[in-house]
Amino acid sequence: MSERADRLTERLRERGLDALLVTNIVNIRYLTGFTGTNALCLVGDGLRAFLTDFRYVEQAEREVSGFDRVQGKRDLLGDLRDLLAPAGARRVGFEDHDVSVHRHGRLRSALPDSVELESAGQLVEGLREVKDEKEIAAIRAAAELATEVLEQLRETGFRGRTERQVAGDFEAEMRARGAEPAFPTIVAAGPNGALPHATPGDATVLPGSLVVVDFGCLLDGYCSDCTRTLASGDPPDEAVAVYELVLRAQEAALGAVRAGAVCREVDGVAREVIAEAGHGDRFGHGLGHGVGLEVHEGPRLTQSAEDSERLEAGNVVSVEPGVYLPGELGVRIEDLVVARDTGPEVLTSFPKTLTIVE
Ligand code: ZN
Ligand code: ZN
Repeated sequence: MSERADRLTERLRERGLDALLVTNIVNIRYLTGFTGTNALCLVGDGLRAFLTDFRYVEQAEREVSGFDRVQGKRDLLGDLRDLLAPAGARRVGFEDHDVSVHRHGRLRSALPDSVELESAGQLVEGLREVKDEKEIAAIRAAAELATEVLEQLRETGFRGRTERQVAGDFEAEMRARGAEPAFPTIVAAGPNGALPHATPGDATVLPGSLVVVDFGCLLDGYCSDCTRTLASGDPPDEAVAVYELVLRAQEAALGAVRAGAVCREVDGVAREVIAEAGHGDRFGHGLGHGVGLEVHEGPRLTQSAEDSERLEAGNVVSVEPGVYLPGELGVRIEDLVVARDTGPEVLTSFPKTLTIVE
């Protein structure tokens, strides 16, 4: 944990900042281990301060080490002045994506005029993109649990059930296994599958349709993200052909995941397979995204990524191409994969041959 704050301090030095005020609660968890909901931390050369209010003092004693723990008032901004002054920090960065204009005003007035406040962008999010082995193990466990949930669904089946009921089954199954849904489960049958972000409705899953199921488990703070497209009974040949195409694109792109690969090019691998089959305009989203403490993190595997954005060893990304035929059907297949120096390590193990669920 303290190694993370050390890496952050290096980045601050590169940016000419004396300290970073961390307000994003997920970033605070990442740096300190704290799992409560009200805290601030300050990181700089020789500065490791963690502030929370009286409700969380005991929890912080258990969870937070390597930081000076300070009990502040409920509004923690008022206590910053006392912490910054002894550290002599003059240029202090803040997480601009997390601080509203209103809060910035209060922060400004809470600090002495001699302190320069600077937008620091997403420095901690940048660190979070590269996972250590402990984090990868946590994501692997969340991904394995997702596989178990899918196996359970194969037993339960779709017969006579609505999308909403199936989604409910999924979420109940996750909770029974000690996890929470990382995001609202998507179950989209038949033509609804053509909407990449469909919400489950009261439509009964009809025999012979394809069903897109996209769900994730949140376990010990880490997320998984998995999509399978299943068939409810024997699907028509056209649906099978689209499925086979997406699977080919997905496997080709998985094979391109490795440390050093250009993010845009990994996306391009799947896109080319789909375009060659004449469905280029039916794959309207990026190939994938990082997954960790949050279900959507960097890096992004998309055509809009810069050429300089490359995968690094320890990135955990989703690879999730899809083909969506409006009014007919949709297919998406999503696995989580670790970028290694030697190539991809796939964390999702549920089979990808078209599974028929009765
Ligand atoms: Zn995803
Ligand atoms: Zn997903």
